[in-house]
Amino acid sequence: MGMDKWQNCGGKYMIKLNFNNIPINYDEKYLYNKITKILKINKKEIKNIKIIKKSIDARKKPHIFYHISVAVELFNEKLENKLNYEKINLDYNGICFNKINSNKKIIVVGFGPSGMFCALALAKMGLNPMVFEQGDNVDERIKKVNDFWKKGKLDTLSNVQFGEGGAGTFSDGKLNTNLKSKICNQVINELYLHGAPEEILYENKPHIGSDKLCNVTKNIREDIISLGGSVKFNTKLVDIIIKDNNVKSIELLNTITNEKTKMECDFLCLCLGHSARDTFKILKQQNFNIKQKPFAIGLRLEQKAENVNKMQYGENYSKLLPNADYKLVTHLENGRSVFTFCMCPC
Ligand SMILES: Cc1cc2nc3c(=O)[nH]c(=O)nc-3n(C[C@H](O)[C@H](O)[C@H](O)COP(=O)(O)OP(=O)(O)OC[C@H]3O[C@@H](n4cnc5c(N)ncnc54)[C@H](O)[C@@H]3O)c2cc1C
Repeated sequence: MGMDKWQNCGGKYMIKLNFNNIPINYDEKYLYNKITKILKINKKEIKNIKIIKKSIDARKKPHIFYHISVAVELFNEKLENKLNYEKINLDYNGICFNKINSNKKIIVVGFGPSGMFCALALAKMGLNPMVFEQGDNVDERIKKVNDFWKKGKLDTLSNVQFGEGGAGTFSDGKLNTNLKSKICNQVINELYLHGAPEEILYENKPHIGSDKLCNVTKNIREDIISLGGSVKFNTKLVDIIIKDNNVKSIELLNTITNEKTKMECDFLCLCLGHSARDTFKILKQQNFNIKQKPFAIGLRLEQKAENVNKMQYGENYSKLLPNADYKLVTHLENGRSVFTFCMCPC
């Protein structure tokens, strides 16, 4: 999928204003006052404002401020264009590709983040992807995960790692990536359009939360289906049949009935995550060119939010502030590093 397939899907150009040192007890009225003053306009002329970036500056404790960027839409477009301020296109249309006319059968295996977004993009291109996921849909998965946490009963195919939404669905964690790509914004927009809180569009370290993430996942699945795709759970890829160096068909196992079926396919997208050891074995047996990747081992540490807040905001911090987060990294002499990942200030 080349980047040339990306389209600008429209959106609206708005005036972008940056405000530094906003007091932490600011409200909408405060923002409107700042905007009308700087643009020298009346409040009635403003159609809409949207916060597009918001960060906390706690470098000069105990004086703590927000830095906020807002997009402003005026009723009078001509006036908006005349005002000599930076313009921003707020495009919340999410992932956007050109439509492709094709009857090719495209199969996506795995319905974690990569499978979900792969299938969504293919569905938007009009390619009717068929998704197969070994675990349960998210509602059934929640029951299995609770069974494990409460009774220690493990379903090896539907658990904290496997099932609709993939690994991390239950971690309540941050949206975290080291990628610097415009795709990241498109993904964030999609999450927002499918029910994630608006704050993820502008917060420095966006966070959805497992409760909301489960619904977002469902909404994405429903969208894929409404666009012509299909999503089947409890269905595991167990073999790949190769002919003339090409994937010809796959074998699927219905994990409830134990029935196996063969299915022809033209393209196979493997979105397996890093824990699908049995499926990697199949790939190795089939002589696919796969190689080991270094991986990080993590552990979960719980700290009192109050202690972190005191550390970041100062002893007498205001309760108006959200719980603080932090990021730490140490590069060791042996070339390895220790770092915090997905710190979640709940
Ligand atoms: C406990 C935990 C907490 C995490 N917290 C965060 C966080 O806070 N923030 C963050 O950014 N990242 C977090 N991560 C990492 C993040 O979850 C992963 O980077 C992400 O899930 C990878 O997405 P993926 O789609 O590639 O793979 P996965 O999410 O692993 O999804 C792969 C899917 O493929 C399915 N599958 C595998 N083999 C087959 C097969 N043969 N047939 C059918 N289906 C198959 C699996 O069942 C699974 O659902 C966390 C990971 C874990 C384990």
